Amino acid sequence: MAAKSGIKEIAGAAGQVLNLIAAPRYGGHLRPRQKTNVQTRNLINGEWRDAPSGATFEVTNPATDEVIAKVPNGGAEQAKAAIAAARAALPGWRALPAAERAAPLARLADLMLEQREALATLLTREQGKPLAESRGEISYAASFITWAAEEAKRVYGETVPSSRPDQRILVLRQPVGVVAAITPWNFPSAMITRKLGPALAAGCTMIVKPAEQTPLSAFAIAELALQAGIPAGVLNIITGDAAAIGQVIFADPTVRKVSFTGSTEVGQKLMVAAAANVVRLSLELGGHAPFLVFDDANIDAAVSGAIKSKFRNAGQTCVCPNRFFVQAGVYDEFVAKLAAALEPMQIGSGLDEGVSVGPLIDDAAVAKVRDHIDDARSHGATLRLGGKIFSPAAGLTERFCQPTVLENVNTSMKVSHEETFGPVAPVRRFTHEAEAIELANDSPYGLASYFYTRDNARLWRVAEALEYGIVGANDGGPSTAQAPFGGVKMSGIGREGGRYVMHEYLDIKYVSIGL
Ligand code: ADP
Repeated sequence: MAAKSGIKEIAGAAGQVLNLIAAPRYGGHLRPRQKTNVQTRNLINGEWRDAPSGATFEVTNPATDEVIAKVPNGGAEQAKAAIAAARAALPGWRALPAAERAAPLARLADLMLEQREALATLLTREQGKPLAESRGEISYAASFITWAAEEAKRVYGETVPSSRPDQRILVLRQPVGVVAAITPWNFPSAMITRKLGPALAAGCTMIVKPAEQTPLSAFAIAELALQAGIPAGVLNIITGDAAAIGQVIFADPTVRKVSFTGSTEVGQKLMVAAAANVVRLSLELGGHAPFLVFDDANIDAAVSGAIKSKFRNAGQTCVCPNRFFVQAGVYDEFVAKLAAALEPMQIGSGLDEGVSVGPLIDDAAVAKVRDHIDDARSHGATLRLGGKIFSPAAGLTERFCQPTVLENVNTSMKVSHEETFGPVAPVRRFTHEAEAIELANDSPYGLASYFYTRDNARLWRVAEALEYGIVGANDGGPSTAQAPFGGVKMSGIGREGGRYVMHEYLDIKYVSIGL
C-alpha cells in the first residue's frame, strides 16, 4: 500500500456530528426517512469519548482538501480503556447462544443497507472513490456481516474415535477472546466488517483502529452497531496515534488476536510485536498481482476484467494487477482495446455522476505513483496512454492520475517489483505458457492473480501453477463474502470470508474424557 502522510494534529474538540439520512428501504419497502447522527468521537464501552488530552486530527476529502471532521487523536490511554471495555464485555457476549449474537449482527447489516446512500457518500468524501464504487462497497461490507451472522450458528466441534476403550475425545471451538482489528483506508467500510462480522459472530469482543485517513466510516458503522443492539463494550473504536495504540494492543495480554490489513512493512512490524505475548495474527498484506492473457483468451472479457481489477478505486487495492503479461498473438489487440476502453474514463470528484476515476488518497501516494511512472520511462518503458497526474477541475487537488498504460516494461523497473497503488498498467509480451507462469510467480508476494484463456486444460494447469492465494480464472473480480480471501508468501497469513474466516477467531480445545 501507499505510504501514508501521517496525521495532522490540530487544536479543537472532536465530536462534530455528521448526519446520515436513511434512503428509502431497499427492496421497494418504504420507511420514513430517518436521521442518524454520527459522532466523530471514539466509542469506548458504549460511550462516545474525546481523547483525554482533547487532541484531535483532521479528516479531509482527498479530492478537495476540505476538512470534513476533527476526530480524537487518541493514544495509549484510550487504547487501554478500549481494551478494558472489551475485556469486561467478553463474558456476557461469548455466553450468548449463537443465534442471539447473530440477531444484532443481521440487524446491523440491514441498517447499513438501509443507509447505503448516506454511508456511501460519507465514504466517498473521506476516501475519494466514485460514489458507485462506494455504494458497492457498502453492500459488500454488509455482506460480510450477514455471512458471519449465518456462520455463527455453524461453529461445529468434533468427536474423534479414541484408541482407548475408556476414553472419549471431544474437540470444542471457542472464541479466542478480545480481538484488535487494524484497518486500512482503501476500503474504509469493508475492511472493518470483514473482521467485525466473524469476530463478533464467534463470540469475541473487539477494538477497531481504523486508518487515520478514513475513520468516519468506522464511526458510522459503530453508531449503527449500537442501534442494532450490539451491547456496550463489545465493539470499541479508537482513532489516533497508530504506533502508540499498536504498542498497547501488543503489550496487553488481554488481546489474544490481532487482525490486520495493510502494508507488508507494517505487517512485519506487527509480527515482531506479536512475539511478546504470542498473539495470534491474521495478516492481509500487500500484493503484486500478475494478469496473464493467453492467445486463446476472449480479449473483450480480458479487457473488461483488466479494467475491473486494475482501475477500481484508482488502482488502490491490494488485489490490483501490477503486471500484465500478454501472449504475442493477441498483444496488439489487447493493448489497443485496453487503451481504447480507458481513454473515455471520466476523472474527477467521486461525488460527481459519471466519474469513474477519483483522486489518489494523499500526496505520498501521488509521489509514489509519479516515481513509478518516471522510473519506468527512464528505464525504457513507453507511454501508450495517460501518465499525467493533475487537477481535473477548479477546486480539485492535484491528486488525479490518468489511467495509464506502459509498454516495453522489464524487470529493471520499480513497477515490476513494488506495488504502485495507482491506475497504472505495465504491459509486457510473452511467448510460451511456461514463461508466463515463471514471470507471474517471480514475486515475493502471493495475494491475487488473474488469467484469461478459453482452453479448459490450460485453465486447470495455470490455476494450479500460480503461487497465489486467489486466482481469478477469466474473472477480474473474484472477491466475495462466501469465498476465502488471503495470500501466501509475503502477502500474509490467514483467510477472510467463507467458512474459513470463523476459524481465525476460534481456538480449538481438546477435551479428553476418561470413562
Ligand atoms: P498504508 O500504507 O496503506 O497507509 P499501513 O500499513 O501504513 O498502510 O496502514 C494500515 C493500518 O495500520 C492503518 O490503520 C495504520 O494506522 C496502521 N498502522 C501503521 N503503523 C502502525 C504501527 N506501527 N502499529 C499499529 N498500526 C499501525
